[in-house]
Amino acid sequence: MTQPSVGLDFARIGITGVRFEALFEAVPLAIAIFDGELRLVNANARYRELTGVAASGQAKVSIYDAFPNALADLTDQIDSALRGTSAATAARVPFQHRGGRRLIETTFAQLVEESGGRGILFAGNDVSEREDLRETLSRNVAQLESIFDVIPDSVRVFDTEGRTVRSNTQAMQDHPSGQPSTLRELWQLDRPRTVDGTSLFMHEHPTARALRGERVRGETLAVRRGVDGAPVIIEVNSNPLYDEHGKIRGAVTVERDVSVKTQLAKALEEEARRTAELYERVSTEAERLERMVQERTQELLALQEARSRERRLAAVGQLAAGVMHDVNNALNPIMAAAYLLEANAENPVAVRDYAVRIAKAAETGAATAARVGRFIRQEPLQAEREELIDLSLVCDEVVAMTRPLWAERARGGTIHLERDLAEGAMIRGITGELREALLNLVQNALDAMAGGGTLGMRTLVTDSEVKLEIRDSGIGMSAEVRERAFEPFFTTKGRAGTGLGLAEVYGIVKRHRGFAEIESMPGVGTTIRLVFPKSSQVAADIVVEEPRKRVARRVLLVEDHPDSREFMQALLESDGHTVDTAMGIQEAMELLEKAEQVYEVLVTDIGLSDGSGWDLITFARERWPSMRIGVVTGWEPKVGAGKEGDFILRKPVRTSELLAQVAGAG
Ligand code: ADP
Ligand code: MG
Repeated sequence: MTQPSVGLDFARIGITGVRFEALFEAVPLAIAIFDGELRLVNANARYRELTGVAASGQAKVSIYDAFPNALADLTDQIDSALRGTSAATAARVPFQHRGGRRLIETTFAQLVEESGGRGILFAGNDVSEREDLRETLSRNVAQLESIFDVIPDSVRVFDTEGRTVRSNTQAMQDHPSGQPSTLRELWQLDRPRTVDGTSLFMHEHPTARALRGERVRGETLAVRRGVDGAPVIIEVNSNPLYDEHGKIRGAVTVERDVSVKTQLAKALEEEARRTAELYERVSTEAERLERMVQERTQELLALQEARSRERRLAAVGQLAAGVMHDVNNALNPIMAAAYLLEANAENPVAVRDYAVRIAKAAETGAATAARVGRFIRQEPLQAEREELIDLSLVCDEVVAMTRPLWAERARGGTIHLERDLAEGAMIRGITGELREALLNLVQNALDAMAGGGTLGMRTLVTDSEVKLEIRDSGIGMSAEVRERAFEPFFTTKGRAGTGLGLAEVYGIVKRHRGFAEIESMPGVGTTIRLVFPKSSQVAADIVVEEPRKRVARRVLLVEDHPDSREFMQALLESDGHTVDTAMGIQEAMELLEKAEQVYEVLVTDIGLSDGSGWDLITFARERWPSMRIGVVTGWEPKVGAGKEGDFILRKPVRTSELLAQVAGAG
């Protein structure tokens, strides 16, 4: 290789020949030398490698062809080097290289040769790596910066002098009216205080302490922030920054606004306190209410007791008044008659008349007494008097007995019967009383259905009870009537009612260890339910009355009271007898005389309008000695019954007794 001819006196600095060549190849630059005709005369390996152009002796490459893979036009750079305007103008030019695209810092410099010719020196420095690094670095910095900025905390970096070197976006927003450029300015704007209100000196500021090498962790301070300098609670962390020699270079301070958190915690605390207070108040109030309820309950109970005492007294008063009324009703005619009797003692017709009146009045009185008695005697029956009774059968009996009277009792209306009677409706008790109770209920039902309706009779058998229901589609009861219906002498029927029907039912049911219920609605109807304990014993276990022999008798019934007469007639007819009736002695005698077949049984009342029943009995005894004669009376007869009659029935007549006595004839 020929010695390059350059403008430098290399020889003077000791770089000659081989040394120069070694240097030429060793520098990390691509170097090419062009002569005065701008032809490539010399180039090192790096140049060849970069451009792919070989500096061969035969065909010298022109400078304009010496960079075939440069991706920018180098002409301007070459021309300005030729003009010698600048010693070396560097430009960054991309080159297409086999290893990819490279960025080369190209420098063209003028060479003035000894011959006076002007050559050009090219030096190319591959800056691709450096550029890549720079780019990566700036990308990273940008990334870090954006992270720095998106942090919701305020971050400030200070240098050792306490100057603000960097602040992130959040930090800038802390003081919108002016950015503190130093820690002192920040301290003046913030006016930091501890949570208990003590102002912080400059040197106590976390950043100041970090600048002295302290790591400040989670310190809570109150500072003034925003345009209006509103107090904000912050949590501060501050760290010293060290250089590679461990010397403090500054500090980074991170502040987090914890006002909301603090407020929330405070609010929560307050809420908890209020809740506790409320709870306290509520429980005191509850106690007070409980006490009040207790007091009120006591008062109510006392009031209720007073009311029920009042009601009991009212009922007793009513009972007494009713009895007094009825006793007076009975006594008045008796006293009047007794007085007249004495005055007319000599007149036998008058004496008989007054005697009859006395007897009738006494009978009425006795009947009332018996009914009241049935209400009063509520104590349970004595076992030995009980029989086993089929309630369904009793229902049928009462229907048979009363049916002829229905139309009249219901004032001409048609009564439709709905019968739903169960088998085995067996209870223990007294048939006569239960029949009486049922009669009263049927009578009430008929009274309620003036103009007709439906009468329901139902028996139900459960495991332990037998229920009997009498239902009507009548006028029904108001709440007040329903309340008082069982009271003796309570009636809404005026003079037509006695007010003793349901009272009697009540007493009878009580005596049978049962209870009675009323279901009623005005305008719809009424159901009276009697509930009895079911008899667990089977019929065979009990000494049952001999079933009555059903013998049809010819009966003459003498009674001037139409209700009693019709009732007894219906009863006897229901038992299969043929019954004729008479209102008084005269009529009875006529019937007896002209009868084609002799009556087998005569049943007569004592107090008759045209004389005493005893006269009729004496007359009949003489004419028909075999005739069975019964007396119906409300008062104890003075005369021996055996001589005058075969049986005596006390009013009110017990149906079973009447039927048994009449059937027993002959
Ligand atoms: P009385 O029938 O003589 O009035 P009760 O003791 O039998 O006396 O009945 C008392 C009252 O109960 C009756 O006056 C009537 O107001 C009411 N009451 C009883 N049964 C019925 C019924 N089936 N329907 C409507 N009201 C009734
Ligand atoms: Mg009645």
